[in-house]
Formats: sequence, structure tokens, C-alpha cells
Amino acid sequence: MIITQKKPLEELLQMLQGVTKVAIVGCGNCAAACQTGGEKEIQEMKTLLEERGFQVMATVLPDECCHKMLVRRDTKVLRDCGAEAVVGMACGDGVQTVADNIALPVYPANNTMFLGQVERVGIFHEYCRMCGDCVLGDTGGICPVTQCAKGLVNGPCGGQKNGKCEVSPENDCAWIKIYQRLLLLGQEDKLLKPCRERGYAADAHPRHIDLRGKKK
Ligand code: SF4
Ligand code: SF4
Repeated sequence: MIITQKKPLEELLQMLQGVTKVAIVGCGNCAAACQTGGEKEIQEMKTLLEERGFQVMATVLPDECCHKMLVRRDTKVLRDCGAEAVVGMACGDGVQTVADNIALPVYPANNTMFLGQVERVGIFHEYCRMCGDCVLGDTGGICPVTQCAKGLVNGPCGGQKNGKCEVSPENDCAWIKIYQRLLLLGQEDKLLKPCRERGYAADAHPRHIDLRGKKK
């Protein structure tokens, strides 16, 4: 799930300077689960903006704000609603998808944080940085790119203290976790293998995937 957090309202109000009529677009998927862009948060945002003198001309809640066709269909209603700007209550992808579909400025109400594991409602952990060249098979299923503060993929930096990361002492050292996990799995010999070469071509942005084999 893409994890988002609300921006401070003041920051959004700065972006909306000079605007009086707005529309709000949320997201029924990740942002709803993050409590940053579901129906309840849209209504709260509407109230907050109206209290500050804005006219909220329309609200829209696509099932997924990153889905271009859904957003195109659901935001048609915004074209003639009189809004001068849109408040996007989704992730950065969703905000841009809305902007792709409407000739109005779209201002983000959220900060997009990470791809997260949901531990339980409202508790998220970053597990994958979407590097495009997954090494989990060599590391006992623990991602060094994400869980090591330095993103080291070829072993520890040596700075750990009592099993904690030297950069972020609140976190366990990823490479100690990897070692312990490989021991548990009887795969510690993987640590003796030469590190595989790892380029960053797969992490060059923006990336595109087309399962239909057509050019973008
Ligand atoms: S190595 Fe880590 S960041 Fe890369 S794809 Fe695998 S889990 Fe994600
Ligand atoms: S102490 Fe461990 S987790 Fe922290 S940067 Fe070094 S190797 Fe990575």
C-alpha cells in the first residue's frame, strides 16, 4: 500500500492563495486506508476549507486515484463545476493522475511517504523501496535496500551497536537481522557468495511497464 500523511493545513492554504472555489478529489484505496483521503477525510477537508471562506464546488472519490481511466470517468463532473483548483487527497501518483485529466491546478493535501506493510489499522512500515532489482532471495527475505539506513546490499557497514543501526539507533541493524534470518533458514553460506553486480538501470526514473508490448 502507498502510505500518505496529511500535509499541515497551512501549507495547503498557501498553495490555494488567490483561489476561492475548489473541488476535492480523494482516493478510495490507499489514501482511504491511511485516513488521508477517504470519504470521512474529504468531508473534514470540506468543512475546514468552508470555515476559511472557500466554496467547495464538488467532491469526488474514485475507487483508485492512480487509475487513469477511473479518474477520467469520475472527474468529468469537475469540468463544469466552477472550481478554480482541485485539492488532491491521494498519493503523488493520484494527484498527478487527476492533473492529467483536468485543466485545473491540482494541489496535494498529502505527502507521499512510502510503500508500506500494514501491521494493523493506522500502523505502517516501509519494507520495499521498489528498486526494480530484488535481492530478497539472497538476504533471507529482508530487504537491505530499505531496512539498512545506508541501503547497503553487500554487507554491513560495521557501525552497529548492540544490534542497533548506527544511523537510526531506534532500528535494528538490517544486516544483523539478515544474518540471523539466514542462520535460521540454514542459508548462511549465502553470505559467502560473491555479491552479485547490481546496477541502477532498473531504478532510473520514470519507469514504464507495458504488458501489451506497445510503446507508451
Ligand atoms: S530489494 Fe528491496 S527495494 Fe528492491 S524490490 Fe526487493 S524488497 Fe523492494
Ligand atoms: S548499522 Fe546496519 S543497518 Fe545501520 S547502516 Fe550500518 S549496516 Fe546498515
